[in-house]
Amino acid sequence: MTHQIHKSNKLLNVCYEIRGPVPERARQMEEDGQRIIKLNIGNLANFGFDAPDEVVQDVIRNLPNAAGYVDSKGLFPARKAIMHYTQEKNIADVTVDDIYIGNGASELIVMSMQGLLNNGDEVLVPAPDYPLWTAAVSLAGGTPRHYLCDEANGWLPAIDDMRAKITPRTKAIVVINPNNPTGALYPDDLLKETVELARLHNLIIYADEIYDKVLYDGATHTSLASLADDVLFVTFNGLSKNYRACGYRAGWMVVSGNKKVAGDYIDGLNILSTMRLCANVPGQYAIQTALGGYQSINDLVAPNGRLTKQRDLAWERLTAIPGVTCVKPKAALYMFPRLDPKLYPLEDDQQLMLELLQEEKVLLVQGTGFNWIAPDHFRVVFLPHLDDLNEAISRLDRFLAGYRKR
Ligand code: PLP
Repeated sequence: MTHQIHKSNKLLNVCYEIRGPVPERARQMEEDGQRIIKLNIGNLANFGFDAPDEVVQDVIRNLPNAAGYVDSKGLFPARKAIMHYTQEKNIADVTVDDIYIGNGASELIVMSMQGLLNNGDEVLVPAPDYPLWTAAVSLAGGTPRHYLCDEANGWLPAIDDMRAKITPRTKAIVVINPNNPTGALYPDDLLKETVELARLHNLIIYADEIYDKVLYDGATHTSLASLADDVLFVTFNGLSKNYRACGYRAGWMVVSGNKKVAGDYIDGLNILSTMRLCANVPGQYAIQTALGGYQSINDLVAPNGRLTKQRDLAWERLTAIPGVTCVKPKAALYMFPRLDPKLYPLEDDQQLMLELLQEEKVLLVQGTGFNWIAPDHFRVVFLPHLDDLNEAISRLDRFLAGYRKR
């Protein structure tokens, strides 16, 4: 037998379905010349959501200055602008030293877990989740323990379930608010209960707030880290969504709250951030202009804005399909509809998504790809234009009608 080369055991529990086998099949189909309607990934630029022009121009203007390494935590003016942003969000006592710029929030999510976890340490992660979090915990040797978000309660985290899953090995709670994949936005009283739980059990709160400006119906967002100074918070944000600049790979994390107990962990974060020298420099030049400039995201989420219209259409059409129910998103770019198991007795939701792709050329991600507990959900990204969304949902409707007749 020929010698086989295996991946590391560290990757055994790591998966990331958003770029998994179903999208891979879609890629092959596209290479064969087929047109697929893609509702699978929150990549705004692909759907004509342009980054603000002043931001793009600033990156172009600064490109000649961006060829060298910079401070491993990031450019000073960019971190100053982020510091100012934390003040706007009422996060107390943040200095530029508490701010780390990374190649997207993604790099920093992985880094924050690598710096924290020993084998077997546990982290509370939501179900459903943005699956990078589960993967990052596993890659760092930790054990993700999933707490349920309750669909019957607008997908809000079930605090009792969170509490029930705390063990002596639990180190942290991950909160994704606004949420991917459900589009939920958490009210202050729930955030306060989460902080109280963290306080009681000495847990760190990792707050992924990358959609904090993508809010519909006039809603407002509260940063978890604004709610206490006696709990350690690590808050994630970036340019990818609020400023439609996923490809610039400009994200950041902010350490705040009870920093005085975290000197050793912060030392670990500093080691990890110097190991990769620095984040992509051209993207860092976009940060100050983006944060200080015209907030054009507000136009997109206004009552007549493009994102609002697409959300409304997608939600109305999806929930008109027999056996499909869905909590209407209050924020972000996603919804997470449910397929009634009486009409759709599924065992394998990935297979369903493959069949939909094959038969109707529509690409979606199955709910279990978001660590959901049963094969009865899928995620819809409502970024395509209204006509494409309409067409995609008509095809889904036809496909599901065929499934019911089987
Ligand atoms: N966190 C959440 C909840 C996301 O949905 C995403 C991207 O979709 C990220 C983090 C990653 O963002 P970035 O592009 O900054 O790496």
